[in-house]
Amino acid sequence: MRVPNHPTQIRRMLESRLKLLVPTGPVLVASLVRLNKRCGQPTCRCHHGGPLHSAYHLTYRQAGRTRNAYVPQDLIEEVRSWIQEHRRLKTLTQEVSQLTLALIKGHVRHRRLRRGRL
Ligand SMILES: [Zn+2]
Repeated sequence: MRVPNHPTQIRRMLESRLKLLVPTGPVLVASLVRLNKRCGQPTCRCHHGGPLHSAYHLTYRQAGRTRNAYVPQDLIEEVRSWIQEHRRLKTLTQEVSQLTLALIKGHVRHRRLRRGRL
């Protein structure tokens, strides 16, 4: 993202991003990890050289500790979209922060210029 110098342009860019900074659904701060594992059935092909079963886990942090949660197969696509929604909001928040900072810096610069003229 290119940050403009003019406060009006900065505010315009800020407004367009603030409008998008609304969750469109559940938001999940976690990583989806795919694991290949054997099941609990000793007679299953996975115990006899056959392909292993795919399972999905979530990794997330809570109170400074990394935790895991099992994700049922039928929820995986939804969970992916909830994680993607967090990424979208995170990127937007970073851009909004950058633009807000530019607004402060521009304000200071503008004031200095005015003082210089006096
Ligand atoms: Zn199995």
